[in-house]
Amino acid sequence: MRKLIVGNWKMNGTSRDVSEIIAIAELSGMHAAVDAALCLPATLIDRASQAAGGFAIGGQDCHMMEAGAHTGCLSAEMLLDAGAVLTIIGHSERRAAQHEQDSDIRAKAEAAQVAGLQVIVCVGETLDERESKKALNVVLGQLHQSLPETAASKWLSVAYEPVWAIGTGRVADTNDVAEMHGAMRAALVERFGEDGRKIRILYGGSMNGDNAAQLLAVPNVDGGLIGGASLTAAKFRPILSAAAALSK
Ligand code: PEP
Repeated sequence: MRKLIVGNWKMNGTSRDVSEIIAIAELSGMHAAVDAALCLPATLIDRASQAAGGFAIGGQDCHMMEAGAHTGCLSAEMLLDAGAVLTIIGHSERRAAQHEQDSDIRAKAEAAQVAGLQVIVCVGETLDERESKKALNVVLGQLHQSLPETAASKWLSVAYEPVWAIGTGRVADTNDVAEMHGAMRAALVERFGEDGRKIRILYGGSMNGDNAAQLLAVPNVDGGLIGGASLTAAKFRPILSAAAALSK
């Protein structure tokens, strides 16, 4: 399976950073064996998609409705119209700060799919849940509740992002990643049959140039969702290279 490496810029980036986006797009062009994308603040999507010459630009959320009285929100069609080809849904920062529930995430994923966007649905346990040995149950529960019935590898990827590993510099143990990704793969196959084998499962949580090769080599780790280390081409480069080396 081709690796998918996606940067999540969160609430970072203005027009001053378009040159960095172009540098990352050019870098991605040099790693043809890897699929790469940047999920940007919505304000940058139009500019970035025009500047980045076919490189995949995405959003970080979308509303579940097509249009209406939802001040401050963006529909999937609006993201697409701005030039996005994908979006993250259900990031743990939104689950926590915007109180998004699995049912919201599922509705958003369905809306994005209907509009024609690729979707990355995020799941992951808190530190408390990991320490009390509930991680597998929590993550498989989120996966079950957050994915639409008609999920298919053509438009869907999922990201396992332990909440305690995001932005902390603390990386999940590779044995734990292997166990979680293996369990997620089994759940995807049980639910979607053979197509469940093709749905890419990304790891996210403090992935960087030093640990990417090790994490991306874990069975059923089909790529990475990367926050901090996606903000510059210099930090993103070794992650793309690690993914490309594993794709040979
Ligand atoms: C993320 O935002 O999804 C993420 C994994 O962030 P970081 O790489 O900074 O931990």
